Amino acid sequence: MTDIRDDARAGFEAVFGRASDGLWSAPGRVNLIGEHTDYNEGFVLPFAIDRRTLVALGVREDRTLRIASTFADEAVEIPLDELLAGADGAVPAPGALGGWSAYPLGVAWALGESGADLSAVPGLDLFIDSDVPVGAGLSSSAAIECSVGLALNDVWRLGLDRPALASIGQRAENVAVGAPTGIMDQSASLLGAADHAVFLDCRTLDSELVPLGLDEAGLAILVIDTGVKHAHATGGYGERRAACERGAAALGASSLRDVTVDELPRAQRLLDDVTFRRVRHVVTENQRVLDTVAVLRTQGATGIGELLDASHRSMRDDFEISVPELDLAVETAVGAGALGARMTGGGFGGSAIALVRVGDLSRIQVAVDNAFGEHAYGQPDTFVVSASDGATRN
Ligand code: ADP
Ligand code: MG
Repeated sequence: MTDIRDDARAGFEAVFGRASDGLWSAPGRVNLIGEHTDYNEGFVLPFAIDRRTLVALGVREDRTLRIASTFADEAVEIPLDELLAGADGAVPAPGALGGWSAYPLGVAWALGESGADLSAVPGLDLFIDSDVPVGAGLSSSAAIECSVGLALNDVWRLGLDRPALASIGQRAENVAVGAPTGIMDQSASLLGAADHAVFLDCRTLDSELVPLGLDEAGLAILVIDTGVKHAHATGGYGERRAACERGAAALGASSLRDVTVDELPRAQRLLDDVTFRRVRHVVTENQRVLDTVAVLRTQGATGIGELLDASHRSMRDDFEISVPELDLAVETAVGAGALGARMTGGGFGGSAIALVRVGDLSRIQVAVDNAFGEHAYGQPDTFVVSASDGATRN
């Protein structure tokens, strides 16, 4: 089997006709628990997975950026100074950069906007290869942003730390791509470590690594990619975000982070039914993240199944971001012996995760395949992920 690192280097040579100067990579992520809490200044508990996006890079003698990917036949080319022209307050209109290149070019733009001195940095050729499934809720978007961000930070000697690079990735996604996503994915991709989850406080951006101990417990995380594609730049994601802001404002809170489970009865009296249920999801989900961290530290992963189940119910019934395929994946996995299961990522498609005993893996995979077949849904892609190290120079 060829190593994906060799593929990335070979891809670079094929497109740019010379050897690359260096290779960087960043992983996708699975969110163990804490969904739609990041932009509410709450808590999340993702981990970086053993699927990565690689960037092979070559330094140029001029100030042009050329970006190619296994996604596209031709490199996208833009003079760095044209890209940065919008840096003084004038932001590129969402989508102005166009297509997939908005992610990596958005990172370069966001670095300029953040005040990094790019006046003398060289142009670059970049080639991007990846084995993170795209649009599957495993954050191929953060993987591309963070691999490119780390590469540019190193080559251009910008000296930014990982939390700063996470913010750069988020800014690229929010402004250049136009997807109003939070800071979770980039934080997981940059701060993850093998066998650990990243417990992140999205208000303070303080983070802590929490041991998962899956191997010792004889457990694995099974991803069930339903194949239903989501798009965060459109529709439901932004609506949910707006509902949260509305709910917080009506409750006199600066964000839903400041609303506790005890205050939900009052919230129910003050809010319309839909807004209340959106609020209840976020408030109870924040508590479930804290509970999951506590259980991991005391009993280990064996004890978190019910919290995963409760999280899924909350997303299905209160936040209404699940789809029938995700519900079927979750119900079937739990019915076939998973300790717990939930959809993961922003919703409206993508993947579910199930916490399973290693000995039950095949049986659960077959059960899920069968259930999808019976419902005449497309066959899901099921695979085990392990918690892995964050972005790195390879
Ligand atoms: P997710 O993050 O769940 O995979 P998103 O819609 O947030 O889904 O991001 C997917 C988008 O990111 C793709 O449609 C593409 O524009 C961009 N992208 C991700 N990986 C790559 C890659 N290897 N090459 C080029 N673009 C990529
Ligand atoms: Mg994404």
